[in-house]
Amino acid sequence: MEQVTANVCTNTRLRGCNPSYVVTSDGVVVIDTPQLPTKAVAMRQEAESHGPIRYLINTEQHVDHIFGNWYFRGAGTVVNHRELYERFMVVFPELDPFAYAYESVPGDNAKGTDLDEPEGVALWPDREEYYRDPNKGRIIFTGDLTLRVGEHTFHLLHTPGHTPGQLAVHVPEERVVFTGDTIFSGCQTWLMTSDVDQWLGALERIRTLDIDLIVPGHGPVVPKSYLDVQRSHLLAWKSAVATAIGKGWSRDETIARVSFRDEFGPVDIGQGYMLDYIQSRNAAALYDKLTGSAPRLTAPDGTPAAAT
Ligand SMILES: [Zn+2]
Repeated sequence: MEQVTANVCTNTRLRGCNPSYVVTSDGVVVIDTPQLPTKAVAMRQEAESHGPIRYLINTEQHVDHIFGNWYFRGAGTVVNHRELYERFMVVFPELDPFAYAYESVPGDNAKGTDLDEPEGVALWPDREEYYRDPNKGRIIFTGDLTLRVGEHTFHLLHTPGHTPGQLAVHVPEERVVFTGDTIFSGCQTWLMTSDVDQWLGALERIRTLDIDLIVPGHGPVVPKSYLDVQRSHLLAWKSAVATAIGKGWSRDETIARVSFRDEFGPVDIGQGYMLDYIQSRNAAALYDKLTGSAPRLTAPDGTPAAAT
């Protein structure tokens, strides 16, 4: 894990999200869990070496932020926004999150990933056993919620946009906010389950916080000023698709011609093979949103093959 401030650790070098923890005078608070089983087991061990885990907070519903909760069973109380809780590892015809999580584990590099872990197969849960208790929220809330643990405050701010149940976790004593995928730093942004206008509002809400550092959902820790970069990426996507619609391009033409593959950095670690997939899904999602068409995909998680 990487030390971010005196009491905050994260890991920005894994396939999956940036799982993190905060050490307080009365135990540890975990924010998101590693998708890969061996990394989840290792992170729990490391976190517990600083004291008992009091709470586990998930920032969003996507597999890469919640699947690892399984490996934290019995460690603290899981806290979820209701919009997240209701989508927690829910299987839809278009997306089976359990199967998607498993795809990243076998080490045959079939998908071109470079950080797969064959050891994780040994730790993989039986499907039925998993779904009996995937370790989702025990505290479920709407709006915002504040937790006090030891000398630390955890403001759980509802910041929908990337997903409906998106949270930012603001820890004022560390001058840090954990944003989940409201921020993708230095890598491609996934838009397909998103409401971009809400997302822009979420960035403005985060801007009001008195903080120094942002722990993003993906990519390196960044200063608060990165909010402007994320905002510019969202606006660029939105205006490119709006322009395409204005020119009368069809959905397929828009998907084929609107792309930021060479501009907004690589895809986060281990998912480089999805670069073109992200471009086409982002364009399709925005096209549907801006033209008011019914989404082609009915899963709240949005995509048949992947969500991050
Ligand atoms: Zn993610």
